[in-house]
Amino acid sequence: MILVSACLCGINCKYNGGSNLNEDILKLLAEGKAIPVCPEQLGGLTTPRATKEIEGGTGAGVLDGTARVMGSDGKDTTDSFIRGAMEVLGIAKKANIKEAILKARSPSCGAGHIYDGTFSGRVIEGNGVTAELLKRNGIRVTEI
Ligand code: SF4
Repeated sequence: MILVSACLCGINCKYNGGSNLNEDILKLLAEGKAIPVCPEQLGGLTTPRATKEIEGGTGAGVLDGTARVMGSDGKDTTDSFIRGAMEVLGIAKKANIKEAILKARSPSCGAGHIYDGTFSGRVIEGNGVTAELLKRNGIRVTEI
């Protein structure tokens, strides 16, 4: 079983109320091979919601307490992002997940590339909070 970002399955959990439907991921779900998760919703955030970016680092810094997740509305949502990541890790452990395919550039799901925290569209190397936590727990994470 593979853990996947829920928005890739066509679930409307994206910040703007839409999805990031990917037909290959939807096929995995239809075949019963994928478990969809949205860490931001699991962390208690609403949909739609303000866009978020990691300020002062990457998901690693957020988990280590040296960076924070800020909204375009100026609100600090670091706690929600950490809570959502922990929820996803709990699901992954219960389902004995070894692999995840997550949405690139998200401050939660990005696994290798995220926005730089300036809301300017610039991308830097690094993981989102959930991708980082999954990797730290031995789960292979790729982004799409
Ligand atoms: S947190 Fe992940 S699953 Fe949820 S909308 Fe963002 S990219 Fe998709």
